Amino acid sequence: MNISNNCVASFHYTLTDSTGKVLDSSEGQEPLSYLHGAGNIIPGLEKALVGKAVGDKLNVSVAAAEAYGERDDAMVQQLDSSMFSGIDQIEVGMEFHAETEHGLQVVTVTGVEGDQVTIDGNHPLAGVDLNFDVEVTDVRAATEDEIAHGHAHGAGGHHH
Ligand code: ZN
Repeated sequence: MNISNNCVASFHYTLTDSTGKVLDSSEGQEPLSYLHGAGNIIPGLEKALVGKAVGDKLNVSVAAAEAYGERDDAMVQQLDSSMFSGIDQIEVGMEFHAETEHGLQVVTVTGVEGDQVTIDGNHPLAGVDLNFDVEVTDVRAATEDEIAHGHAHGAGGHHH
C-alpha cells in the first residue's frame, strides 16, 4: 500500500537543522503515526511522503516556509514586567501562553532588562530549514473514526 489521502502512515524520523544538529528523533520511541492529507504533519514532509511504502527511506529537506514558517519580527514585543503579575522572577527561556490576535500562542521570554521584558511569539523552529531522515514502517487504510476525527489512533497516534 502506498501513502495517499485517508491512509494512516507510521514512520521513524530524525530531524536535523542545516548544520546537522539533531533537533528531534523518534529513536527509542514508537514511530510517529499520522493521518495523511489531514495536515497532521508539516506540509513539506507530508508532500514528500505521497506514494511511499513500508521500508522506503527518504531524506527530505524542508525550507522554513514549508515547515514552521519564516520568523516574524512583529511577534517580538517588549512588555512591562507588571504585565506578568503573580510571577516572582521572570527569566529568559520561560514560556507563557498568551491571548493574541492570532489566538492562543506560546511566547518565550528572550530578554529581561530592568522592568522591560522581551517576549517572542515565533515558533522555536520558525525560520529554520529542516532535514528529515525518514523510514516508513507502516501504511494502512484509516478507519472511519480516524477520518472523522482528522488524526490517527493507536500506537504513535492519539489515544482517547
Ligand atoms: Zn480521535
